[in-house]
Amino acid sequence: MIAGADGRSLTAEAHDGGDAHVAETQGAGAMGTLGRSAGPVRNPSRPAKRLARRISHDYGRADHLNRYREVLHTAVSRDYRIGSMLDLAAMKGATPTDKWLILRHDVDVAPSIARRMLAIESDIGVTATYYFRLCTAHGADFDHITRSGADIGYHSEELATVAKAFGVTSPHEVREITPVAKELVVVNLARFAAATGRTIHHASSHGDFANSRLGVTNATLYDDELRHRTGIRFEAYDDDVNRPVTDRIADQPDAVDASQRAINALEAGGHVVYFLSHPRWWGSSRSEALIEDVNRLVDAARFARGARGRRIGPSFSVS
Ligand SMILES: [Zn+2]
Repeated sequence: MIAGADGRSLTAEAHDGGDAHVAETQGAGAMGTLGRSAGPVRNPSRPAKRLARRISHDYGRADHLNRYREVLHTAVSRDYRIGSMLDLAAMKGATPTDKWLILRHDVDVAPSIARRMLAIESDIGVTATYYFRLCTAHGADFDHITRSGADIGYHSEELATVAKAFGVTSPHEVREITPVAKELVVVNLARFAAATGRTIHHASSHGDFANSRLGVTNATLYDDELRHRTGIRFEAYDDDVNRPVTDRIADQPDAVDASQRAINALEAGGHVVYFLSHPRWWGSSRSEALIEDVNRLVDAARFARGARGRRIGPSFSVS
């Protein structure tokens, strides 16, 4: 567990990465709920109902990108500098002279919406960080973002991947699979770097339901030895990286609410405002969301039985 400058634990956010946290905070409507109840999935109709609710949620989602633009305009009008995780890391744990808005996007799914967020940033002339999972590191939208000059990092989920592959559901077994998961990080980072055409210098932990079940984040893999081998300079949840942050805002459970909290923090003069978004919550992306939701359903059902997980659809992850 690490804590931000506001004393708030970042562990929950690391767990969330995305949907698992939504399930815990929102309580309903998200299939991530399976993460918390992955063990006792006994009624076969429940996952299907959750999937139906989630698809309905995604399909009916309003577009909130105008609210994202409003956040950026608020920062500009109040003389904030706007930057990426690289800018935050460059502060080296110290309070900067200028006020900053740090933009981080975890592209768990829906690179098409991420591309639209990038367009807003380009209009204003600012650069954000985009963390992609391997399963989102392909396609025209991904290529567009990686070629745009935006900061790109790796959204890491190897511990969860290996846990699901080996049917590990007990926290006591995590130590046994950690070496394998670290090796997988090395392989996957090389694949990711090849897909981006860049050297990758930083990573962030994705929050899978398996992490919630195991009580261990993917970030725990990034010890000194792994960083040395891979050239990863920082992980997004590192204490020293986050120390300057005064206001930490993530877009769960609701993008509109998060945008308002960000605007409030900026209007209140928060010195380093950190804004984490998951593009899927800012617009509707039916096909991308459907593929991811079905994958999660399959994973969760298999994980609940301690069976091996295997992704389907256009996935870049371990097969
Ligand atoms: Zn994530």
